[in-house]
Amino acid sequence: MAEIMDLAILNGKVVIPDDGVYPLNVYVKDGKIKTLSAEVLPARETVDAAGKYVAPGIIDPHIHLGLFAPLKTELGTETRAALISGTTTQGVFFGGPQSHLESFPAVRADINAHSFTDIIPHLVIGTDQQLAELTRYAREFEVASFKIYMNGIPGLIPNVSDGFIMDVLAEMKKTGKPCILCSHTENASLVARAVRLLRETKGEQITVADWTLTHPEIVETEAVDRLAHLAAEARCPVYIVHLTAAASVRRLKELRLGNPYVSVETTSPYLSIRHTDSLGGAIKMEPPFRTQQDLDGLWQGIAEGVIDTIGTDNVTMTIAEKNMNAANVWEVLPGYAASEHHLSVALDEGVHQRRLPLERVLACMTKNPARKFGLYPRKGSLLPGSDADIVLIDLEREKKVTAAATHTRSDFSIYEGRVFKGWGVMTIKGGRIVAKDGALVDEQPRGVCLRR
Ligand SMILES: [Zn+2]
Repeated sequence: MAEIMDLAILNGKVVIPDDGVYPLNVYVKDGKIKTLSAEVLPARETVDAAGKYVAPGIIDPHIHLGLFAPLKTELGTETRAALISGTTTQGVFFGGPQSHLESFPAVRADINAHSFTDIIPHLVIGTDQQLAELTRYAREFEVASFKIYMNGIPGLIPNVSDGFIMDVLAEMKKTGKPCILCSHTENASLVARAVRLLRETKGEQITVADWTLTHPEIVETEAVDRLAHLAAEARCPVYIVHLTAAASVRRLKELRLGNPYVSVETTSPYLSIRHTDSLGGAIKMEPPFRTQQDLDGLWQGIAEGVIDTIGTDNVTMTIAEKNMNAANVWEVLPGYAASEHHLSVALDEGVHQRRLPLERVLACMTKNPARKFGLYPRKGSLLPGSDADIVLIDLEREKKVTAAATHTRSDFSIYEGRVFKGWGVMTIKGGRIVAKDGALVDEQPRGVCLRR
């Protein structure tokens, strides 16, 4: 008598990241992938995935929550919006000057009570106290990823020195577990100089396109080089968040040949928006958007495996919170909600427009982030034993983006009016169907704070 499966996903095209696409049925039991098979096995519930791609749930390694609204609120609204579009796991950066020993237990409790997606916590290390406590964060909270800002935000997030970075890498090694250091990788004093020069020449009359001049590409390429040096010296893995410049991709292509310690992320907004796009204050961002050549260079980096992962750097804010319509662009804050269109941007720009293989693009959004953050093959895989986090993709579906139709608490979209081809049409998390056709079908938040 054959075992009865909990869920069968039949007739779909199964995407194995960085491998290929296979006509197989997917079987789920007790929240895990049980088997992939061409056979039809008995199951309690069946989904017909004919014409659809069946992929591991999307893992967005880079978002922020709780910056402009309470964490609890955004766990409710923003992780829900992400889940509806096919994202089942999100990496969240938690910062602030306080000891994480004081703040993180409440953060973790909020996640476990209110999140719809599973959360990979990344802790920002910016003070001497946080540095001294890093080993305890790793052991007591089972966290394995940290973050530093080579270029912070004046008054909010401190820039750290190269010496401090070496201290963090040394502490990470002392934990005795595989840790990775995420880095906002820009040269702070060159940014400060470029800001000063732009203020001197243009005063308050700058446009959002001018804002890009405050971060000339050397601020990124120089910091990439420096970080790679430090990682090689410490023999400790680093992860460059939100890469923006084609010149950095070219440099990293050479660098990575001899340096196994560097991993690279870009974001779906940087893969789809140029600094000259007429989107006004909505696209003021830090680092800024760049040119078509940069956008092309980032896609090239994905095609060639120089870029490992695609995140969003989602910071949810409303038009009012962003000060988006301020006449003076200096006063507009960087950031936007981007989680909900993450998958569609990659499918439209990467698979349709640039003809990249689906299994390559999705590797950057599933398997690779899982590997970099110590979660593979529990996450990012459809192999037997992996968590049954799955997205069904309709690659031919076209839909226009309007802020009004999104599920985030934000009231604008950087993609307003754009038509994307390729959408997540069903999300399965832990073996349950949780979202279907752009709506949640399970109102229970089932996300957990992941331990590593
Ligand atoms: Zn960020």
